[in-house]
Amino acid sequence: MRLRGAAGRHGARLGRSAPRSDAPNPHPPLPPSPAPPSTSDPALGQALSDLHLEPGAPRRPPSGSPFGAPPPARAPSRLTRAALARAASVASGSDSDAGVVVKKLEEPVVEAAAPADEAAGAAPPAPPAEPVETLPAVPRAPNETRLSTAPLQPSLLDQAVALVYDPGMEAHAPPGPHVERPARVAVLAALLRSNGMAARCRAVAPRAATDGELLRAHSADHVRAVDASCPPGAASYDRGDMFYSPGTASAARLAAGCVAQAALAVLSGEARRAFAIVRPPGHHAQCARAQGFCFFNNVALAAMAAREAGAARVLVVDFDVHHGDGIQALTLDRPDIMYVSLHRGGGFYPGTGHPVEAGTGAAAGRNLNVAWTRGGLGDAEYDAAFDLVVMPAARAFDPDLVLVAAGFDAAAGDPLGGMAVTPAGFASMTRRLLTLAGGRVTLALEGGYNVSATAACAAACVEVLLADRDGGPPPDAPRARPSRDAAPAIAAAAAAMAPHWPAALGPLGDAAGFKAAWGDYCAAAKPPRALRPRAPGAAAA
Ligand SMILES: [Zn+2]
Repeated sequence: MRLRGAAGRHGARLGRSAPRSDAPNPHPPLPPSPAPPSTSDPALGQALSDLHLEPGAPRRPPSGSPFGAPPPARAPSRLTRAALARAASVASGSDSDAGVVVKKLEEPVVEAAAPADEAAGAAPPAPPAEPVETLPAVPRAPNETRLSTAPLQPSLLDQAVALVYDPGMEAHAPPGPHVERPARVAVLAALLRSNGMAARCRAVAPRAATDGELLRAHSADHVRAVDASCPPGAASYDRGDMFYSPGTASAARLAAGCVAQAALAVLSGEARRAFAIVRPPGHHAQCARAQGFCFFNNVALAAMAAREAGAARVLVVDFDVHHGDGIQALTLDRPDIMYVSLHRGGGFYPGTGHPVEAGTGAAAGRNLNVAWTRGGLGDAEYDAAFDLVVMPAARAFDPDLVLVAAGFDAAAGDPLGGMAVTPAGFASMTRRLLTLAGGRVTLALEGGYNVSATAACAAACVEVLLADRDGGPPPDAPRARPSRDAAPAIAAAAAAMAPHWPAALGPLGDAAGFKAAWGDYCAAAKPPRALRPRAPGAAAA
């Protein structure tokens, strides 16, 4: 059963208390980590080395922000071209995943994974959940007052980007080698500290999601089952495609709470944009089931929290290589939350995300799936999908807030994704999204299993967030010519959306219209480097 509505109406305490208080405190001390720092993870040391970071760098500052000491008067560094090139090189090479048992997510689910609820064991019975009404959409009147996009005070410009992280999320630890490991977030946090980006951001206090927040999307049984899945002192274990450790419940609550907190910081005007470094990921998590490494649906929950806080329309864009079946299931009938996913189709895990899944009832046209028909696609193809379908539909939806399910397993070198997106490609998508919703954009980490590539790609996105300090629309990145193999997925998405967004996508709704638009797009794009004409008289190589 899906529960929605105001937190106060169904925020009953469950069988186990939330591990942390969410009492407002703008600058609380760093909470104690529930597990020793994972520097013993050989993947972490290798990835730090790959990224030219100090393996022995302090993992936690003595006090204050989890990202280190207060920022210097001037931001000392940017992610330089050389650093990006180095990161791209790392991304394209073999990562430290070589010795890791890769838990493949490439096959569609034939039989549902064991519900996390089964892991509850002797969990106490749940109090009866109070059914609540579906949260209604808020129509936007022609003269409706929009959320403020007034410029930030000059003193805030250097910290217009909120960053949230808690090393407690590293306490969700697998019983053996696994791609979804603590180093994913530890390395990213270390990179942002090392390159100075964290110091240029506004550190948002991490917090755990409350019962009331989780119940907006999840059943009471599911929340209780996750809370009780691996008590303190118990041994970690695998169940289906999930693993559980004593730190799992608190990490899952922290991930959901931190994404919501980042989104609310942007919505409130505390920050312009935000990045949430979180794990475990969330976009596969269903109302009553954990799956695909996900326990609570972090981004869907943040979207619902934003709705509660006053955003009339929330756009969720998911560029994780896997379809976010959990987000789609939780929002498919909601006209107030539009979900856009770019993912591998054709039976790739989880096997959902066909373009015809366009939304139901009043939400028709508010679920957009670009399902790539093969791997190996990269920056140019993602840019084309954004330029031809995603951005026109998103502008027509006219969101108040953009949340990004920022999975980086479409990055070159990822052990699961098989795609070829570079840090510059993820930056390009982020740059486009900043033109929506007055620049109110929050990114939240989802997948990404090449630790160093994930860190490099995420840092490239943070750099874009930092670059746009005044909230103005940034320029589009130069376009490259996409592979024709991307056309079927983009055409199918356009055809599915065109009836619902006729002004934005109507001309692309049939084969002839799409072919013309695709031709125009490719003609205007830069040709691939190998196809550029040689200068007259140049010798053939
Ligand atoms: Zn993924």
